[in-house]
Amino acid sequence: MFAKKIRTFDALVLGAGAAGLLCAIEAGKRGRRVAVLERADRIGKKILISGGGRCNFTNIHCQPENFISANPHFAKSALARYTPSDFIALIEKHHISYHEKTLGQLFCDRSADAVTEMLEAECRLASVQLFLNSKIHKVQHAAEFVVLTEAAEFRSPVLVVATGGLSIPKIGATAIGYDIARQFGLKVQKTRPALVPLVLGAEERGRYCDLAGVSAEVAATCGQHSFREKMLITHKGLSGPAILQISSYWSKGKPIRIDLAPDRDATTAAREAKLRNAATVRAVLQEVLPSRLARRWLDLHLPSAWTNQAFTELERQVHEWTLTPVDTEGYEKAEVTAGGVDTDELSAKTMESRKVPGLFFVGEVVDVTGHLGGFNFQWAWASGVAAGRAL
Ligand SMILES: Cc1cc2nc3c(=O)[nH]c(=O)nc-3n(C[C@H](O)[C@H](O)[C@H](O)COP(=O)(O)OP(=O)(O)OC[C@H]3O[C@@H](n4cnc5c(N)ncnc54)[C@H](O)[C@@H]3O)c2cc1C
Repeated sequence: MFAKKIRTFDALVLGAGAAGLLCAIEAGKRGRRVAVLERADRIGKKILISGGGRCNFTNIHCQPENFISANPHFAKSALARYTPSDFIALIEKHHISYHEKTLGQLFCDRSADAVTEMLEAECRLASVQLFLNSKIHKVQHAAEFVVLTEAAEFRSPVLVVATGGLSIPKIGATAIGYDIARQFGLKVQKTRPALVPLVLGAEERGRYCDLAGVSAEVAATCGQHSFREKMLITHKGLSGPAILQISSYWSKGKPIRIDLAPDRDATTAAREAKLRNAATVRAVLQEVLPSRLARRWLDLHLPSAWTNQAFTELERQVHEWTLTPVDTEGYEKAEVTAGGVDTDELSAKTMESRKVPGLFFVGEVVDVTGHLGGFNFQWAWASGVAAGRAL
């Protein structure tokens, strides 16, 4: 049995995702000797699969309101000190072409590879050392932090945990970040899948899910939160941006309300028609909704008579179609993990633990979850930089 090789650094960053890399680059540029330990055989695997392979790397309308956390004020400081313009400047420095898709979402014109190549180049410039295929087994703390991987032992007075959340376990997501937080006595807000498709119960699945693939622009509401975007019917229930957004606010037992014709009148033309009957209403509804959905929805909501009152009720139902999902599609399909390391435990300026000096948490592992649309990366970049400036 050989003794493990001991390597000493000024700072150790666990996880070569968006947050860990920006943190390491920032600290490296400030002259710190930084090592990034990553279990995968390459950096930024989630960046590569993000945004349908084109990486929605930020959102130009980024505001603290686009984030969910037990403490909605926590993210403000880091987001204000590293803004979408800062990341865009980095993208432009590397001549990566990009475009705005909708709602301020910026995507690479070609492929997300460009972003990981840019981050790799920045790591080289900042002399950051990347240790790939280095799964973290154990973290110890005495005079300094000691991190054990299969092959080596890393030591440093500073440890940054950037190991992400639980979503997409098949590309390597692990609970290690939350485990390290608990090991050091830090509170962790209960985690749950977010930005995730919702599953309907057997009865509603039987009614709607053979329409899988049909999509419509809707306004989806859960509690106080509402999003107007596309909804997609799936084999198991509902997805599409409007549903993914609302899923982050949904919990078991809560109903969601779907306005199938936001800002539109769906039935007046039929009410005012000479012949009031199902065929007229169907024709009018098909102007508003994809025809298969219009036909199915009407068959299931057909009034017994075509009175004015029945029309008023039908119009209401079009705008308040209420469903109670039974579940989400879980971490396998979730874009992010909501919950995480309790922000009360961390400095909002530096992401350092208040209890354990030298221990930092950045990115998705922290209880800050962005809306869909480039906000999660903006949080990862901004929180990473906040810590990197403090190392
Ligand atoms: C399919 C998909 C598409 C997405 N698209 C977008 C998008 O377009 N825009 C957007 O803003 N957000 C998007 N997101 C969310 C975004 O990818 C994440 O919020 C972001 O990557 C979080 O960054 P992070 O650095 O905190 O964590 P991660 O990117 O998850 O990085 C954590 C790293 O830690 C490593 N790690 C974990 N455990 C260990 C261990 N035990 N030992 C060593 N290393 C370990 C992991 O391998 C990983 O490389 C998407 C997510 C998914 C799943």
